[in-house]
Amino acid sequence: MAAVALPSGADCLIIGGGVVGCSLAFHLARGGMRPLLLERATLGEGSTAKGAGGVRQQFSTEVNVRVSRMSRAMLRRFPDEIGATAALREIGYLLLATTDVEAEQFARNVEVQRTAGLEEVRLLSPDQALELVPELRGDDLRAATFCPTDGLAGPHEVTTGYAAAARRLGARIVEDCAVEAVERDAGRVISVRARGQSVAASIVVNCAGAYAAVVGAMAGVSVPVKPYRRHIFVTEPFSLSRPAPMTVDFHTSFYFHPEGDGLLLGMSDPAEPPSFDTSVAWDFLEHLIEHATWRLPVLERATIRTGWAGLYEVSPDNQAIVGEAPELAGFWLCCGFSGHGFMQAPAMGHLLAERLLGGEPEIDLAPYAPQRFARGDLRPEAAVI
Ligand SMILES: Cc1cc2nc3c(=O)[nH]c(=O)nc-3n(C[C@H](O)[C@H](O)[C@H](O)COP(=O)(O)OP(=O)(O)OC[C@H]3O[C@@H](n4cnc5c(N)ncnc54)[C@H](O)[C@@H]3O)c2cc1C
Repeated sequence: MAAVALPSGADCLIIGGGVVGCSLAFHLARGGMRPLLLERATLGEGSTAKGAGGVRQQFSTEVNVRVSRMSRAMLRRFPDEIGATAALREIGYLLLATTDVEAEQFARNVEVQRTAGLEEVRLLSPDQALELVPELRGDDLRAATFCPTDGLAGPHEVTTGYAAAARRLGARIVEDCAVEAVERDAGRVISVRARGQSVAASIVVNCAGAYAAVVGAMAGVSVPVKPYRRHIFVTEPFSLSRPAPMTVDFHTSFYFHPEGDGLLLGMSDPAEPPSFDTSVAWDFLEHLIEHATWRLPVLERATIRTGWAGLYEVSPDNQAIVGEAPELAGFWLCCGFSGHGFMQAPAMGHLLAERLLGGEPEIDLAPYAPQRFARGDLRPEAAVI
């Protein structure tokens, strides 16, 4: 079957159909634009499909707390607004500190979070953390924080929900359509090339996730986003004595949460260099199990059912990069979410759409501006998993 011809032009062209691009397409279409989204494979099959579905508001910078609170509220009203489920489960996030430095950081985070309106977050003693998950090893805990309105949602549900709603409002979404070039003239973006055709657009948004630097290079724009492989493993049926929140051992980055009738386990490998490799390194599982059974000794009895790997899209300060590229007028970035892009996608799609539609976003996007790298004005996010 011949590939469908692309339109000759679009109000706004979005490159990448993960959760971020689909959220942006919906919010632009709702604001009256007719965006065109080009996805080189299938919607949501990049990092979005590989995530743990975590939705937390416990960040260390005020702006990230505010963005995540906005996302959480949007996910709550997703069924009414979008007409589909977001599969939201507010099971809470329990973060564990095992060093004094981490405990001090947690206390500072809670102050920042409360200032940003997250009143329900609590700083816990080790004993209080063990009340939430009695099977945890607790003798090395220094402190913990818990937010009951954090939790999980469905990356597939949210992505396809936004895409369907965007289409209903007139957005055009084309899969199996890789952008091959971004064309510029006199310091402005003018068009992109895909399927050998040229599509004119005065606004192009790079939502290419872990491939944001590759797409940036097509436009002659340096995008400081590096891909890092992250693993997830899921156990055979396994239950704890009570339903556990998403629980994160901050020092090792080991985390777990209930997934179906088993537990989902994840952890990062800080020694692994950046790459686009998404094959499963089964030898890493041994390393993860060592940390997992230390923190949750009952896992000795668990059997692993499956595992997969996907890419984090990491910026130099672990903060998203959202704004117009300084080198090229009309070329916008919405990438570099550094492993928290699913939870930020609803709010960030909305906020960037407001900006592109000519309004003032209700949360100032300045902390995410791409210019911060040249200025050396980095805003490191400390609460990264
Ligand atoms: C193991 C793991 C666990 C995670 N857990 C969480 C979590 O609990 N909570 C959370 O918030 N986040 C989590 N994340 C991060 C989250 O998945 C990402 O931040 C988020 O999915 C980014 O969405 P995106 O739309 O920017 O990227 P993607 O989903 O990767 O979408 C980008 C799209 O761009 C397309 N593309 C690339 N190049 C081109 C091109 N040239 N032309 C057209 N299309 C192109 C790709 O095919 C892809 O579909 C996790 C990630 C991993 C890997």
